[in-house]
Amino acid sequence: MTRTSSSVETEEVGARIAEDLEPGDVVLVSGELGAGKTTLIRGACRALGVTDPVTSPTFTIGHRYRGRMPVSHLDLYRLEGLEGEDPGLLDDYLTDDAVAFVEWPLAVEPMLERVALGVELAHEGGDRRLITINRP
Ligand code: ADP
Ligand code: MG
Repeated sequence: MTRTSSSVETEEVGARIAEDLEPGDVVLVSGELGAGKTTLIRGACRALGVTDPVTSPTFTIGHRYRGRMPVSHLDLYRLEGLEGEDPGLLDDYLTDDAVAFVEWPLAVEPMLERVALGVELAHEGGDRRLITINRP
């Protein structure tokens, strides 16, 4: 459990998480809107050598960045379930050569094979956040 009081500190937590990640690892990132999911992923991406802007995917379910290894960033906020979705929906993102971060993972959690970590962020008033990291 870690507490942060700025987005920079949350990015630093993301960078520390990134140190232990290997290609194929999937990191689930949950928490309410504005809790800092994208911010933490941005810090992780920077540590993985991504130089492109890291922003919330809006018109697609995900982004794919180039770093020291490929990095996928999914945001499944709008995905209510997998019913009626293309079964290969995530295939372009969850590849063996990439580290993947998934915001709002609930709908797909049961079908993810290689979850390395779960990260949960919670508001604690103002700029303070509580970050909990779980290893499945
Ligand atoms: P999410 O992806 O969970 O919706 P974002 O990372 O997009 O959240 O946004 C978090 C917002 O909260 C940003 O505007 C960020 O600057 C602000 N913020 C303030 N304090 C913190 C903190 N301690 N950690 C992360 N973000 C913070
Ligand atoms: Mg986000």
